Amino acid sequence: MKKPSKTINVAERAKQEASLAKELLSPLVGLGLTFNRMVDNLSGKVSATISYPEERRSYSDRFRGAHILTARADGSPRCVACYMCATACPADCIYIEPGEHPDPQIEKVATRFDIDMLRCVFCGFCVEACPEEAIIMSRQTEICEYSREGTIWGMERLMRRPELAEFGVGFRPNDELVESRLSVAPKDKPRIKMPGRVTLKEDVEMIPNVTFDPHKD
Ligand code: SF4
Ligand code: SF4
Repeated sequence: MKKPSKTINVAERAKQEASLAKELLSPLVGLGLTFNRMVDNLSGKVSATISYPEERRSYSDRFRGAHILTARADGSPRCVACYMCATACPADCIYIEPGEHPDPQIEKVATRFDIDMLRCVFCGFCVEACPEEAIIMSRQTEICEYSREGTIWGMERLMRRPELAEFGVGFRPNDELVESRLSVAPKDKPRIKMPGRVTLKEDVEMIPNVTFDPHKD
């Protein structure tokens, strides 16, 4: 026979468990926690804030930051202008123009690829939709510009990413596949330290280069 279900009335249970000692002690426990936290803050044991930009949070490897257009070994974009990313984009902020690729094995190539960074909601749908791993994301959060035009990133800006040395790559759909073939290495230029900054963004030229070995696939 099925056991009757037990009904718990939380209001009644709270009344039964209430006591004068509890009523008096609860605020004191709360005050104690607040006081301890205040002492930790004043003594510098914990810091409530981050001294940005000297200090930065370390974001996850899957952080959805500013995009990267990956390149083939010869430096040309991997993008084949299939429009999958633009179709999946909920913010309608990707603009692509296709062209013919000189290699007859590759049907098309993007001759223009713009992302409006102000409209982008950094959802990563474009990365997930791309069949070529031609678009991935970085952990770059700083995308401020002085003009509206500057917030529309074209192919040059999306492919040459000096900031990656500082921020690193972020969300990409297949860690194993990309990791084994994506080489993101800064050119051999010295990194300069500037007062007030952890690293200098300039002077490092990088092209994320994804090469696919057909014999491995
Ligand atoms: S991250 Fe989302 S909003 Fe931004 S370009 Fe990709 S699909 Fe569009
Ligand atoms: S980035 Fe990927 S999904 Fe977008 S057009 Fe190029 S190949 Fe297609």
